[in-house]
Amino acid sequence: MTSRTYGPWADACGVPVTTAARVEQIGVHKPHGALAGRRGKTGVVTDLGSSRVNVLFDGEDIPVGVRPHLLQVLAQQEAEGMTCLEGLHWHGYLHRAEGGLYELPEPTLLDRKIRLAEVPHTVLRSPSQVAKWVGTTSDQDECFVLWLPAPGLWRTYADQAEWRTEAVKLAARAGAVYTAVSSADGSARCELYAEAVSADDCPEHGVHHEQDA
Ligand SMILES: [Zn+2]
Repeated sequence: MTSRTYGPWADACGVPVTTAARVEQIGVHKPHGALAGRRGKTGVVTDLGSSRVNVLFDGEDIPVGVRPHLLQVLAQQEAEGMTCLEGLHWHGYLHRAEGGLYELPEPTLLDRKIRLAEVPHTVLRSPSQVAKWVGTTSDQDECFVLWLPAPGLWRTYADQAEWRTEAVKLAARAGAVYTAVSSADGSARCELYAEAVSADDCPEHGVHHEQDA
């Protein structure tokens, strides 16, 4: 369905970053120029450097060099998402549980069926919306895991930015995003399941897509 390449000038979703593109900083990684204080801030790409793109953030005077995988191209990304992921949206389910991340069971197709029979907590329409939803619960959390379907394992991330970037990539490949976060003491966790759904899976597909407009 997607034939994107992940080149050096691609954003977190694999969308090409070009001069004059509007971008949002979605990752945080100080050594790569992405400070925590600018997460969620938007700006314009002034030029492409050797390993970073220079972004003039809104309200600032001097462009900042940021590695492109920590950015998300706006508008264009949405447009491309609509084209490449046509007919897909995501149902988001949130589940709070006792216990840490090591007790997470392996996701099954039956789990997915049970979730899809329930009313979703939220409906998400693009990979960027999936990433934003996943990120909103995680500000006070310190441990992150993501289900990687290809090896079939819960991978632990120490770096929140890397975790979010991987979540965007999974969604951009038209996949489900299963993730969980917990506090440092591991006494409780929050599980987030974003199920990719098509018209076959979602009887309210038309309604959910109309909300797009
Ligand atoms: Zn739906």
